[in-house]
Amino acid sequence: MNLPEYAYFKGKIVPYAEAQVGVLTHALNYGTGVFGGVRAYKNDENGKLYLFRPYDHYRRFLSSTRIMLMEFDETPESMTQHTIDLIRKSGYSEDVYIRPLAFLSEEMIGVKLHDVESEFSIVALPFGKYVSNDTNAHVTISSWRRLDDNVIPARGKISGAYANSAFIKTDAVRSGFDEALVLTQAGHLSEGSAENIFMVRDGVLYTPAVYENILEGITRRSVMELAAAELGMEVVERPIDRTEIYICDELFMTGTAAQVTAITKVDHRPVGTGMMGPVASKLRELFFDIVRAKNPKYAAWNVEV
Ligand code: PMP
Repeated sequence: MNLPEYAYFKGKIVPYAEAQVGVLTHALNYGTGVFGGVRAYKNDENGKLYLFRPYDHYRRFLSSTRIMLMEFDETPESMTQHTIDLIRKSGYSEDVYIRPLAFLSEEMIGVKLHDVESEFSIVALPFGKYVSNDTNAHVTISSWRRLDDNVIPARGKISGAYANSAFIKTDAVRSGFDEALVLTQAGHLSEGSAENIFMVRDGVLYTPAVYENILEGITRRSVMELAAAELGMEVVERPIDRTEIYICDELFMTGTAAQVTAITKVDHRPVGTGMMGPVASKLRELFFDIVRAKNPKYAAWNVEV
């Protein structure tokens, strides 16, 4: 991977090589960090970059820091400004992915959350697709289970919890799949390793509710709103059984990295017709126009860099 030239670290923009931590750093040993993932998209008509819903991303990020007892004198607006400053300083003029990270930064031994110093950093780097087959992904149901809220809360986007996602993703990819969906301890569908999941059955759009150990995705929220407002669909949050996705009409995943990725096969079974369906297709079209600031109705979701 090409490393970025700059990072926001300890309150200022520094050369990336200076954004370093020691091996005793609390978060490196115990997974006590929280992170985010934001994208900025280029509008090729005016050449400008636009962050997609950064205030919502940073609101979730700061909520995650609260769950982990970190205290920062920052707001979604100030974090967005640091991000804009970093992208400008880096001189990017293509699509970029932004990774904010807050972490217990003290170099010490001791498993706890209280009375430990914390820091945050931001990096930004050019980024394309995360799931390469984004119109025809083949997924499996992972043999791993999703972390429960009373184990490590998924809504916290906590670094340590992503060991669970890493097990899920590696086993899927090594078995020849693009991604895996993971079940809760109760056996309901939760989400992908880094994506929320949606199912269409008989014209209704279903997605697991926030109590199914999902990350409360910003793309998820956007797609729910678009399906209702633009496609006139009923959108229902409820538990989804494993076998429902064997007989549903459409299945797709959403996420900042994965964007809107159509799933056309689950464990070698075709989903619906076995091709990307009309709902995923229309939502992708709407989504890609909106993120590139080409739909004035949703301009409030775009923040110019
Ligand atoms: N679930 C998990 C586990 C994730 O890591 C992500 C990516 N942040 C998502 C869902 C999608 O969330 P968002 O749309 O906010 O990127």
